[in-house]
Amino acid sequence: MGKGLIGEFKEFIARGNVMDMAVGVVIGGAFGSIVTSLVDDVIGPLLGMITGGIDFSHLAISVGDAHIMIGAFIQAVINFLIISLVIFAVIKAFNKAKDLTAKPVEEAPPVTKICPFCKSEVDIAATRCPHCTSEIE
Ligand SMILES: [Zn+2]
Repeated sequence: MGKGLIGEFKEFIARGNVMDMAVGVVIGGAFGSIVTSLVDDVIGPLLGMITGGIDFSHLAISVGDAHIMIGAFIQAVINFLIISLVIFAVIKAFNKAKDLTAKPVEEAPPVTKICPFCKSEVDIAATRCPHCTSEIE
């Protein structure tokens, strides 16, 4: 609190996750077209072959006057499952690669401590609190 919105925003940017996220979004966008192609051009025809050339997408059930496009729905569910599976596999591989290259990050030593008397933040080397003037270790 008291840092203000701009300070908080700077901290958010400086954390570096934002850059990772931005890269992820851009790559994800490019990756999406690969997955779509994989589903439509590779897995789709294979699935068609397995199911004996049945084209789900035109399968419909008529209930009274309503045409329930069950086939299109099944197709969408299958596509979703395939895309989830592919993304899961890629993320798994990505995390494994990341683990191999990641170096352990050393935590920065603290530069401040909390005054035991007034609970204010003071410099780590201070022997007297600038807020309440108490002597501290
Ligand atoms: Zn103090």
